[in-house]
Formats: sequence, structure tokens, C-alpha cells
Amino acid sequence: MLIGTAVCTVVVILSIVGFLLVREYRNTEEDAKRSALNIVQLINRDIRNTFSIYDSALSSLIELLQTKALSTLPTQTQHSLLFDRTNETPSNAGFFVLDAQGKLITRSKPDIHIPDNANQQPWFKAHLNSTSTDLNISHPYLANPDTQDWVIILSRRVSAPDGAFAGVAAGEMKLAYFQSLFRGLDIGPTGNISILNTDGTLMMQYPPTTVLAIGQDLSHASNFIRLINDRYGSFMAISGVYHHKRLFNFAQVRDLPIIVVVAVSAWSIFDNWQHTALIIGSVTLMLCLGLLWLTWLLIRELHLRHYAEHELAALASTDPMTGLANRRTLDRILDLEWRRVQRTGNPVSLIMIDIDHFKTFNDSYGHQAGDEAIRQVAQVIKAHVRRPADLTARYGGEEFALVLTETDAAGTRQLSEKIRLAVEYMPPVMPGHRTLTVSVGSCTRYAKPGEHQDTLLSAADKALYQAKKGGRNRVVNINETGLNALKPKPAS
Ligand code: GH3
Ligand code: MG
Ligand code: MG
Repeated sequence: MLIGTAVCTVVVILSIVGFLLVREYRNTEEDAKRSALNIVQLINRDIRNTFSIYDSALSSLIELLQTKALSTLPTQTQHSLLFDRTNETPSNAGFFVLDAQGKLITRSKPDIHIPDNANQQPWFKAHLNSTSTDLNISHPYLANPDTQDWVIILSRRVSAPDGAFAGVAAGEMKLAYFQSLFRGLDIGPTGNISILNTDGTLMMQYPPTTVLAIGQDLSHASNFIRLINDRYGSFMAISGVYHHKRLFNFAQVRDLPIIVVVAVSAWSIFDNWQHTALIIGSVTLMLCLGLLWLTWLLIRELHLRHYAEHELAALASTDPMTGLANRRTLDRILDLEWRRVQRTGNPVSLIMIDIDHFKTFNDSYGHQAGDEAIRQVAQVIKAHVRRPADLTARYGGEEFALVLTETDAAGTRQLSEKIRLAVEYMPPVMPGHRTLTVSVGSCTRYAKPGEHQDTLLSAADKALYQAKKGGRNRVVNINETGLNALKPKPAS
């Protein structure tokens, strides 16, 4: 029961601690997701605002281009009017307008870099081949290899009054602008922010990294496929780039083919939790081991105590020399048995056995030999008492007593005679000594209510006295019907 209780307690403690740690783990993960998604939303809003400023600048540029009255104005005024709104755009690398063949019509500033063979660029061809007037966002390209100035081109189709393709109005946006925008955000030491095109092209990454190149195609990466399928959310996965577990938080910018991803490594998220789990886990484990150890000590102590008590009880109830029950046990058992037969009405017998002329034996061979003789006679008597309910006791000195439950006078007489004979035919205890004999007095009674067990004792004692008086080495039985003596057989 103790082991069961201790094991149950340990299991309960471990379950509670385990449950709390798992809950704390989940809370930590949820907190990390929540704060990373907040950052994603913040960036999303900024990107949407920035693109929308570019888009309205381009729209107004196209509107002015399509105004007939524009050509009537002086060139300088035309220029100021066309590019007036473009000055409001952040990260402005410059705006320009190309005709249907890709030739430059006008630009916001003279040093602006226009891509070579503009009419071969995908974004130009996209407008040429489609009547859509939607904003086109190009892949990043290196405007200036010396300064590593990466830009993207935001462009819109310019249509002639009859709807035919008349050219492209475009604005260049410096991607370095986003680096400065993200600088103030706290994404932890291992976090990074990526802006991806929905076709899988990496547009920028903060902080800048050498592991990934701007413009790199990530469309086949399994994590990207998950981003593009879900469009918004969080998941934990092994990064194909950094090769460790990272928490990816992402959202597509509304109405734009752009996905913002904030990724944080798992170990930086769970660093604190791991420390706490380690401390709490070790303390709990030590406590549980301590508890089990204490239980083991307690069990061992209880075993020792139980063993000691058992030993003591045995010592208190047995005669140390013969190993038979002692006088105290005899009295107790006799009392119990007497009361039991008083209830059941069954017979109970008491046999008293006394070694004959033992004083002479003792005087001749000494006390040690006397003790050995008592032990041997005790063994012979014990060997004849086979029923577990019967009791064999050393009554005192060289006297023994047997309590036989539910045994009638005939059975008692038979057993008494067997014992007498067995002692008589026992091998001599000492060389030269003829043999030991015993006198046996027994009594069988049907206990009457109110009668004391001493009547049984005194009757058996009386029978023993009769046996001694009758010449020793004989059995005398006193029962309800009176005296009954057995003559001994002559010793061979
Ligand atoms: P009886 O035939 O009438 O019984 O004669 P007895 O000599 O056996 O009887 P008695 O009562 O005169 O003497 C008993 C002797 O038993 C006395 C004592 O020396 C011896 N005795 C009693 N207890 C022990 C014991 O534990 N060890 C030894 N060695 N002798 C004992
Ligand atoms: Mg005696
Ligand atoms: Mg004697």
C-alpha cells in the first residue's frame, strides 16, 4: 500500500508538473506567434501605404500625360506638373515614362537609371501584352552595382485614347528604404523579416544576409509552398536555409503580390522556458526520488520492526532450550481452547509427561547431558503431535504438556502410549545409560459451562501422579468415566 501510494503521488506530481510545463511551452509559443504576427501586420500596413502612394503618383502622372492641354504648356511647366506628386513618395529613386517602343519620353530627374533595353524587360512586356491598367511590381534588380542599390519598378500601362498601348509610366523604389523602416522593430537576435513576391522571388531581407541573395527564387522551398497556400498564419518548421527549427509568421499584403514573413528561431523563443523547465524538472525529479527513497526507508524500517516484533513474540512464546511452546503459551492456549470447547461441546484433552528418575540421570551425567536428554525427549514428543491445532509445551523442568483439541479419551490414550513407547525405545542419550522412560498422565473432558480449566490440569496432574505411583513408565488416563491405566510393555 505504501509503495502504491508513493508511486501514485510521484505520478500525480510528475503529471501536474508536466502539464504545467507543457502549458507554459504552449503559452510561450502563442506569445511569440502573437507578437510576431503583430509585427507582420505593422509591416504589411507600411508596405501597403508606401505602394499606394506610388500607385496614386503613377495614376496622376498618367492622367496628366493623357491630358491634351499638357502639350500646350512650356516644357519646364510640363515637367513640374507631371512629377509634382512623385516627390511625396518615400524611397523615391525616380519616375520615368517610356513610349510604346520603350524609348524614354520623360523622367523626374536626369541621373535616374533607366534599365537598358527597357522594352525587353518583363514588366514592359507585361503591359504591352495586356490591356490591364493594374499596377505591376517588377522583380528586384541592381540599379547600381557599385552601391548595391537594389530597386523594384512599379509601373502602369499608358493607353492611347483608342485604348492602344502608348507606353509605360514607372517609378523606382529603393529597397534600402525597407531596411531603415524595419530597423526599429524588435524581432530578437535570431529573427529576420523577408519580403517575398508571391511567385517566390525574394525581394529583400532584414537584417541583410549573405545566406540568401536578393532576387533568389524560393518558389520550390517547401516552407514557401506552405506560405503561398495559407497566405496568413504561423507555423513551426525546419528552415531550408538556416537548417534549424524556426517559427514562420506571415501574411500577404492586401491586393498586392507580396508576402511579409517574420521568422524567429525556436531556440530563442524557448530559451527561457528551457531554463525554467530544466530547473523545475530537476527539482521535481529530486523531490520524487527523495519521496521514493523515504518510502523505501520507511518500508525497510517497517519490515525490520515487523521482523523484530515477530522474533520477540516467538521468543516470548517459546522455550529456548527445546523450541517447544513455553508455560505462558500453554496457559493462553489452554484458556482459549477450554472456552472454545465450552461453546462447541467437543472434548479437549491434556497430556502431562514427566521423565522418570531424572534427578538420578542428572546427578550421574551432569546438567549438560540432562539438558540434551530433555531436548531429545522434547523432539520425540513433538514428532508425535501432527495436528496443527494441537500444542506441545514444556511445562517446566523435565515435564511436558500436550493440549489436544477435539480428541476423545481413546485417541488421547493411544497417543500417550505411543509417546511413552517412543521415549522408551529412544537411543540412549549417554553411552552406558540403559534408557530413559516417561510417565504419562492424561485427562479428556467435555467442558461444562462455568467450569474452570484448572479442573483439566489438576486431573491430568493427578493421572501423572497415579502413573508415578503405579511404578512409572506407564500411561494413566482420567476421563469422565474414571481412571484408566495402561501397563507398560517390558523394555527390550
Ligand atoms: P520422578 O521419577 O519422580 O519424576 O523423579 P525425578 O528425579 O525425575 O523427579 P524430581 O522432581 O525429583 O527431579 C527432577 C529433576 O530434574 C531435578 C533437576 O535436577 C532436573 N531438572 C529440572 N529441570 C532441568 C533442566 O532444565 N535441566 C537439567 N539438566 N535438569 C533439570
Ligand atoms: Mg518432575
Ligand atoms: Mg521426573
